[in-house]
Amino acid sequence: MKLCRFKASENVSLGVIEGDSVFEIKDDPLAAGFSGEVKKGTEHKLEKVKLLAPVLPSKIVAIGLNYKAHAVEFGKPLPEEPMIFIKPSTAVIGPEDEIVYPGHMSHRVDYEGELGVVIGKTAKEVQVKNAAEYILGYTCVNDVTARDLQGKDIQYTRAKGFDTFAPIGPSIETGLDPLDATIQTYLNGQLKQNTSTKDMIFNVFQLVSFVSHVMTLLPGDIITTGTPSGIGKMRSGDVVEVRIEGIGGLRNRVVDGMAARKLWLD
Ligand code: MG
Repeated sequence: MKLCRFKASENVSLGVIEGDSVFEIKDDPLAAGFSGEVKKGTEHKLEKVKLLAPVLPSKIVAIGLNYKAHAVEFGKPLPEEPMIFIKPSTAVIGPEDEIVYPGHMSHRVDYEGELGVVIGKTAKEVQVKNAAEYILGYTCVNDVTARDLQGKDIQYTRAKGFDTFAPIGPSIETGLDPLDATIQTYLNGQLKQNTSTKDMIFNVFQLVSFVSHVMTLLPGDIITTGTPSGIGKMRSGDVVEVRIEGIGGLRNRVVDGMAARKLWLD
């Protein structure tokens, strides 16, 4: 089942995507007691609606260096435990929304295609063997990163936290096998990242357990599970698409933000 949020005639609705259609649903998959079943309401043609970010997380917990080949690419040893950081909720945008290049502070902005885990119910100190019960489904995330600031700042808040730096979508697939899904990133139609989630160092169930032993995860929160090798930079005008087998494609265009000459001190 592909859950989504969408806008049609200025009304925002929850929906389920089937083929070329989206059906309105009244059941909130994040509400306590959600049965896993939805009752399909009014049908819309997918091409006539605007898909929104499929969820509005209170926080995005991101994992650094979670694919072996990416750790090698950065010349870093494999981590002994997951390395986590936060992307703010204000960075979230949806499919086809614009990534704004913060040229006033950064000159190197990268895509990072990632599998996002969408939390379905409040999770605190969850065991690995029970983690699946707390997961609503999976979505595509682009962990957009100002690479130059990541090196300069030591910690990641600014590099990962600009507005529009967390595209998510297009839907939440509830039936995905997260242990072996193909994940790809295309830049202007060219394949740049291409691997399977089975190459993760820590799998999604271990990550839900680990993070839930640090902080409580709320319904709608996202754990974005790290990027594979093949990261690279984007420029204004580029179109970037993260595709995950079974979920679909998350496409966004990069546009110029504030001019480089505009100082934040002004
Ligand atoms: Mg990342």
